[in-house]
Amino acid sequence: MLNRDLKELRIVTCHLGNGCSLAAIRDGYSINTTMGFTPLDGLMMGSRSGAVDPSILLYLIREQGYSAEQLEAILNQESGLFGVSGVSNDLRLVMQAIADGDVRAQLALDMYIERLKQFIGAMIASLGGLDVLIFTAGVGENAPNVRAEACAAFAYMGLQLDLDRNSRPRDQVISSANSSVIVMVIHTQEDWAIARECWQIAMA
Ligand code: AMP
Repeated sequence: MLNRDLKELRIVTCHLGNGCSLAAIRDGYSINTTMGFTPLDGLMMGSRSGAVDPSILLYLIREQGYSAEQLEAILNQESGLFGVSGVSNDLRLVMQAIADGDVRAQLALDMYIERLKQFIGAMIASLGGLDVLIFTAGVGENAPNVRAEACAAFAYMGLQLDLDRNSRPRDQVISSANSSVIVMVIHTQEDWAIARECWQIAMA
Protein backbone atom coordinates (compact mmCIF):
# COMPACT_ATOMS: atom_id res chain seq x y z
CA MET A 1 0.00 0.00 0.00
CA LEU A 2 2.88 2.41 0.69
CA ASN A 3 4.95 1.19 -2.23
CA ARG A 4 8.01 1.01 0.04
CA ASP A 5 10.49 -1.81 0.66
CA LEU A 6 9.71 -3.61 3.94
CA LYS A 7 13.46 -3.58 4.62
CA GLU A 8 13.42 0.19 5.13
CA LEU A 9 10.48 0.24 7.54
CA ARG A 10 10.24 -0.21 11.30
CA ILE A 11 6.62 -1.25 11.86
CA VAL A 12 4.42 -1.78 14.91
CA THR A 13 1.18 -3.62 14.25
CA CYS A 14 -1.64 -3.26 16.79
CA HIS A 15 -3.99 -6.22 16.48
CA LEU A 16 -6.90 -5.10 18.64
CA GLY A 17 -9.75 -7.58 18.42
CA ASN A 18 -11.28 -9.66 21.14
CA GLY A 19 -7.71 -10.89 21.56
CA CYS A 20 -5.07 -8.16 21.41
CA SER A 21 -1.35 -8.18 20.65
CA LEU A 22 1.36 -5.99 19.18
CA ALA A 23 4.23 -6.98 16.92
CA ALA A 24 7.44 -5.05 16.26
CA ILE A 25 8.57 -5.69 12.68
CA ARG A 26 12.01 -4.97 11.26
CA ASP A 27 13.23 -6.03 7.80
CA GLY A 28 9.82 -7.67 7.33
CA TYR A 29 10.28 -9.96 10.36
CA SER A 30 8.58 -9.83 13.73
CA ILE A 31 11.32 -9.20 16.29
CA ASN A 32 9.12 -8.67 19.34
CA THR A 33 5.55 -9.29 20.39
CA THR A 34 3.44 -8.66 23.46
CA MET A 35 2.44 -12.33 23.51
CA GLY A 36 4.38 -14.70 25.75
CA PHE A 37 4.10 -18.43 26.47
CA THR A 38 0.46 -17.97 25.36
CA PRO A 39 -1.53 -15.02 23.90
CA LEU A 40 -2.65 -14.18 27.46
CA ASP A 41 0.38 -11.98 28.12
CA GLY A 42 0.75 -8.32 27.19
CA LEU A 43 -2.17 -6.04 26.33
CA MET A 44 -5.47 -5.95 28.19
CA MET A 45 -8.09 -7.65 25.98
CA GLY A 46 -11.82 -8.23 25.70
CA SER A 47 -11.99 -10.88 28.42
CA ARG A 48 -8.28 -11.70 28.96
CA SER A 49 -6.27 -9.88 31.57
CA GLY A 50 -3.03 -9.39 29.64
CA ALA A 51 0.09 -9.04 31.82
CA VAL A 52 -0.54 -9.18 35.57
CA ASP A 53 1.75 -9.39 38.56
CA PRO A 54 2.33 -13.17 39.05
CA SER A 55 2.06 -12.57 42.81
CA ILE A 56 -1.68 -12.10 42.36
CA LEU A 57 -1.96 -15.72 41.27
CA LEU A 58 0.17 -16.94 44.18
CA TYR A 59 -1.97 -14.89 46.57
CA LEU A 60 -5.22 -16.30 45.19
CA ILE A 61 -3.90 -19.88 45.43
CA ARG A 62 -2.48 -19.52 48.95
CA GLU A 63 -4.96 -17.20 50.61
CA GLN A 64 -8.19 -17.90 48.73
CA GLY A 65 -7.73 -21.55 47.69
CA TYR A 66 -8.22 -21.00 43.95
CA SER A 67 -7.55 -23.97 41.64
CA ALA A 68 -5.59 -23.84 38.38
CA GLU A 69 -8.85 -24.27 36.45
CA GLN A 70 -10.49 -21.35 38.28
CA LEU A 71 -7.50 -19.08 37.67
CA GLU A 72 -7.39 -20.06 34.01
CA ALA A 73 -11.08 -19.19 33.62
CA ILE A 74 -10.67 -15.86 35.44
CA LEU A 75 -7.62 -14.81 33.42
CA ASN A 76 -9.03 -15.83 30.04
CA GLN A 77 -12.79 -15.34 30.28
CA GLU A 78 -13.58 -13.01 33.17
CA SER A 79 -10.90 -10.31 33.01
CA GLY A 80 -9.97 -7.52 30.60
CA LEU A 81 -12.68 -5.09 29.47
CA PHE A 82 -15.33 -7.50 30.72
CA GLY A 83 -13.85 -8.06 34.15
CA VAL A 84 -13.05 -4.43 34.91
CA SER A 85 -16.24 -2.91 33.45
CA GLY A 86 -18.58 -5.69 34.60
CA VAL A 87 -20.46 -4.91 31.36
CA SER A 88 -19.07 -6.81 28.36
CA ASN A 89 -15.99 -7.91 26.47
CA ASP A 90 -17.39 -5.94 23.51
CA LEU A 91 -15.96 -2.43 23.38
CA ARG A 92 -19.13 -1.12 21.72
CA LEU A 93 -21.15 -2.04 24.82
CA VAL A 94 -18.45 -0.70 27.14
CA MET A 95 -18.54 2.64 25.28
CA GLN A 96 -22.34 2.69 25.51
CA ALA A 97 -22.06 2.18 29.28
CA ILE A 98 -19.52 5.03 29.47
CA ALA A 99 -22.00 7.29 27.65
CA ASP A 100 -24.55 6.28 30.30
CA GLY A 101 -22.14 7.37 33.05
CA ASP A 102 -20.77 3.97 34.16
CA VAL A 103 -17.47 4.69 36.00
CA ARG A 104 -16.23 1.06 35.91
CA ALA A 105 -16.70 1.04 32.14
CA GLN A 106 -14.65 4.27 31.92
CA LEU A 107 -11.94 2.71 34.12
CA ALA A 108 -11.84 -0.36 31.83
CA LEU A 109 -11.36 1.77 28.70
CA ASP A 110 -8.74 3.95 30.44
CA MET A 111 -6.77 0.86 31.50
CA TYR A 112 -7.08 -0.67 28.03
CA ILE A 113 -5.67 2.47 26.38
CA GLU A 114 -2.97 2.97 29.01
CA ARG A 115 -1.68 -0.57 28.46
CA LEU A 116 -1.81 -0.05 24.70
CA LYS A 117 0.32 3.11 24.95
CA GLN A 118 2.83 1.45 27.29
CA PHE A 119 3.35 -1.54 25.04
CA ILE A 120 3.57 0.51 21.83
CA GLY A 121 6.36 2.40 23.61
CA ALA A 122 8.07 -0.90 24.43
CA MET A 123 7.88 -2.01 20.79
CA ILE A 124 9.35 1.32 19.60
CA ALA A 125 12.25 0.78 22.00
CA SER A 126 12.86 -2.68 20.52
CA LEU A 127 12.89 -1.24 17.00
CA GLY A 128 14.97 1.83 17.86
CA GLY A 129 12.33 4.08 16.27
CA LEU A 130 9.11 3.88 14.32
CA ASP A 131 8.17 4.45 10.68
CA VAL A 132 4.71 2.87 10.44
CA LEU A 133 2.03 2.22 13.06
CA ILE A 134 -0.79 -0.09 11.94
CA PHE A 135 -4.17 -0.64 13.58
CA THR A 136 -6.15 -3.75 12.72
CA ALA A 137 -8.97 -6.13 13.86
CA GLY A 138 -12.38 -5.30 15.38
CA VAL A 139 -11.31 -2.51 17.74
CA GLY A 140 -8.29 -1.37 15.71
CA GLU A 141 -10.40 -0.96 12.56
CA ASN A 142 -13.59 0.44 14.09
CA ALA A 143 -12.74 2.54 17.15
CA PRO A 144 -11.30 5.93 16.06
CA ASN A 145 -11.26 7.11 19.70
CA VAL A 146 -8.91 4.28 20.73
CA ARG A 147 -6.58 5.05 17.81
CA ALA A 148 -6.64 8.79 18.57
CA GLU A 149 -5.87 8.33 22.27
CA ALA A 150 -3.10 5.83 21.64
CA CYS A 151 -1.52 8.05 18.98
CA ALA A 152 -1.70 11.17 21.17
CA ALA A 153 0.92 9.57 23.43
CA PHE A 154 3.44 9.70 20.57
CA ALA A 155 2.86 13.29 19.49
CA TYR A 156 6.14 14.07 21.30
CA MET A 157 8.02 12.24 18.52
CA GLY A 158 6.15 14.03 15.72
CA LEU A 159 3.38 11.47 15.16
CA GLN A 160 0.30 13.36 13.97
CA LEU A 161 -3.06 11.81 13.25
CA ASP A 162 -5.32 13.40 10.63
CA LEU A 163 -8.58 13.47 12.60
CA ASP A 164 -10.70 13.58 9.46
CA ARG A 165 -8.94 10.56 7.92
CA ASN A 166 -9.10 8.76 11.28
CA SER A 167 -12.89 8.71 11.04
CA ARG A 168 -12.94 7.23 7.51
CA PRO A 169 -13.21 3.50 6.62
CA ARG A 170 -10.27 1.09 6.82
CA ASP A 171 -7.39 0.31 4.46
CA GLN A 172 -5.81 3.72 4.31
CA VAL A 173 -3.28 6.10 5.83
CA ILE A 174 -4.77 8.11 8.71
CA SER A 175 -1.75 10.24 9.69
CA SER A 176 -1.29 13.80 8.48
CA ALA A 177 1.08 14.56 5.60
CA ASN A 178 3.82 15.97 7.87
CA SER A 179 3.63 13.24 10.52
CA SER A 180 6.99 11.63 11.38
CA VAL A 181 5.23 8.24 11.55
CA ILE A 182 2.80 6.87 8.96
CA VAL A 183 -0.32 5.57 10.71
CA MET A 184 -2.57 3.13 8.88
CA VAL A 185 -5.75 1.14 9.39
CA ILE A 186 -5.60 -2.22 7.60
CA HIS A 187 -8.27 -4.91 7.57
CA THR A 188 -7.17 -8.11 9.32
CA GLN A 189 -6.98 -11.03 6.93
CA GLU A 190 -5.90 -13.89 9.15
CA ASP A 191 -7.52 -16.41 6.80
CA TRP A 192 -5.27 -15.25 3.97
CA ALA A 193 -2.16 -15.36 6.17
CA ILE A 194 -3.01 -18.93 7.22
CA ALA A 195 -3.75 -19.96 3.62
CA ARG A 196 -0.43 -18.49 2.46
CA GLU A 197 1.55 -20.36 5.16
CA CYS A 198 -0.26 -23.61 4.28
CA TRP A 199 0.44 -23.07 0.59
CA GLN A 200 4.15 -22.63 1.30
CA ILE A 201 4.26 -25.83 3.39
CA ALA A 202 2.31 -27.74 0.74
CA MET A 203 4.62 -26.56 -2.04
CA ALA A 204 7.87 -27.20 -0.09
P1 AMP B 1 -12.31 -9.39 16.29
O1 AMP B 1 -11.79 -10.34 17.32
O2 AMP B 1 -11.26 -8.81 15.41
O3 AMP B 1 -13.50 -9.93 15.52
O4 AMP B 1 -12.89 -8.12 17.11
C1 AMP B 1 -14.08 -8.22 17.87
C2 AMP B 1 -14.20 -7.02 18.78
O5 AMP B 1 -14.09 -5.81 18.02
C3 AMP B 1 -15.56 -6.89 19.46
O6 AMP B 1 -15.65 -7.67 20.63
C4 AMP B 1 -15.65 -5.43 19.76
O7 AMP B 1 -15.04 -5.18 21.01
C5 AMP B 1 -14.78 -4.78 18.71
N1 AMP B 1 -15.56 -4.00 17.73
C6 AMP B 1 -16.17 -4.44 16.61
N2 AMP B 1 -16.80 -3.44 15.99
C7 AMP B 1 -16.59 -2.32 16.74
C8 AMP B 1 -16.98 -0.94 16.63
N3 AMP B 1 -17.71 -0.50 15.61
N4 AMP B 1 -16.54 -0.09 17.58
C9 AMP B 1 -15.78 -0.53 18.63
N5 AMP B 1 -15.39 -1.80 18.77
C10 AMP B 1 -15.78 -2.69 17.85
